[in-house]
Amino acid sequence: MKKPDHVVVFDTTLRDGEQCPGASMGLQEKLQVARQLEKLRVDIIEAGFPAASPGDFEAVKKVAAEIKKCRIAGLARCVKSDIERCAEALKPARNRARIHVFLATSAIHREFKLKKAKDEILRQAVEGVKYARKFCRDVQFSPEDASRTEPDFLAEVVRAVIAAGASTINIPDTVGFTVPQEFRRLLTYLHEQVPELKNVTVHVHCHNDLGLAVANSLAAIECGARGVECTINGIGERAGNCSLEEVVMALKVRADHYGIQTRVKTPELFAASRLVSQLTGMMVQRNKAIVGANAFAHEAGIHQDGMLKHRETYEIMRPEDVGVVTGSDLVLGKHSGRAGFSAHLHRMGLKVSPEQLQGVYEAFIVLADKKKVVYDDDIVELLREYISDIPKVYAIKCLQVSAGNRSIPTATVQIEKGGKVVQDSATGAGPVEAALKTIDRLTGIKGELKSFAMQAVTHGEDALGEASVQVKFGDDLVAAKGSDIDIVMASAKAYINALNRHLFLEKKASQA
Ligand code: MN
Repeated sequence: MKKPDHVVVFDTTLRDGEQCPGASMGLQEKLQVARQLEKLRVDIIEAGFPAASPGDFEAVKKVAAEIKKCRIAGLARCVKSDIERCAEALKPARNRARIHVFLATSAIHREFKLKKAKDEILRQAVEGVKYARKFCRDVQFSPEDASRTEPDFLAEVVRAVIAAGASTINIPDTVGFTVPQEFRRLLTYLHEQVPELKNVTVHVHCHNDLGLAVANSLAAIECGARGVECTINGIGERAGNCSLEEVVMALKVRADHYGIQTRVKTPELFAASRLVSQLTGMMVQRNKAIVGANAFAHEAGIHQDGMLKHRETYEIMRPEDVGVVTGSDLVLGKHSGRAGFSAHLHRMGLKVSPEQLQGVYEAFIVLADKKKVVYDDDIVELLREYISDIPKVYAIKCLQVSAGNRSIPTATVQIEKGGKVVQDSATGAGPVEAALKTIDRLTGIKGELKSFAMQAVTHGEDALGEASVQVKFGDDLVAAKGSDIDIVMASAKAYINALNRHLFLEKKASQA
């Protein structure tokens, strides 16, 4: 097997990323993300865990059928039925398929989770890899919790699974526990103990519990790793995974130091970040490296002065290198026709069916009527409502509020459920609370608003307001967004979106 001459980007937004609280995506949403990952030219898309649920199976299958420029991986435990499901879902990808089998190797996982001794773990890992090889030439093995595994046992497992046919070995820092110096030592030790590693590709999969996922991944690249497992915006279990945009740009900006890069088309990074944020409802913090709203904003006078004289005084990369458009991205207005609108969606990499197009176009005209200029971000917002396959069990038909410092904030809301329109009103501490309380009364489902944030999507006084909410329904924490020219309406939409998402997840969980 030929060693890659670049750092392989293994994107797991659709698998590990989707596991983060509230970030579940429907099939159409996963496909939109997969298309953007293909435009980014990531090497491998981990599309899901087919044995986990019928929805996951279907998503892996659809991504495998549609995406042609990336390898497609599916996750499986070292269990025959998992591997069979995975192979079945990956069939449409043919020779671009990868089965990714994993088994925990650390003492704590062996003892408390798996209740298995070392020799059993070793045997199961080898059997899993061998069985996966019956279906697929490209098999990756991950010793889960590798960074907390006894190094000598880890080396033994790695050697055995390479002999069994694994061509990629992934070293996960599953709980985000390691630190760069230690991870470097582990990678170096493994390469010394297992010379066979030279003939396979070594990946790392780092979590961000201590904020070190990117640093640890970069440290591993210095010690022989040639693949990074990462997600857009760093979403993922708990504090998330290694952020794709950060690790890719670190390798690019510091090519002088690393001497090796990825093949990612970096001008697509910002669009990818935006899309994933939209579809999962997970906000990107303003000061987030690379893709945050402030990442290229220079505030201090001295900095601005320096920038004007010579950009490089305070800028280590250009906004356009990561796809941040600082000029005008205005393209459409209310006189744009449907064909022009459709062509524009295509240029933005967004795909809609002919039936969806009609609805999106109508919504666009309504928006263009209210707003002087319609930006690409506004369109992404509009589209989110139409491409989702999360059923709109509830939809807001009409919302009216009265508020002010001398009145009792009151909301009247009409919602539609299954063709039936119902209405009610309630008061609250403010108009948003009044609206949400009214919705609770109408649906009979009590949500607990855990977080609420409002931001302008684009520029100007008539910008769309985007509400991001996290709502708790029972034990289920759901994130969602909603946007509108009216901020109370945006909040109500976000809340209803969270509710619909909750109902969808509940159904999905009952099928799993
Ligand atoms: Mn993980």
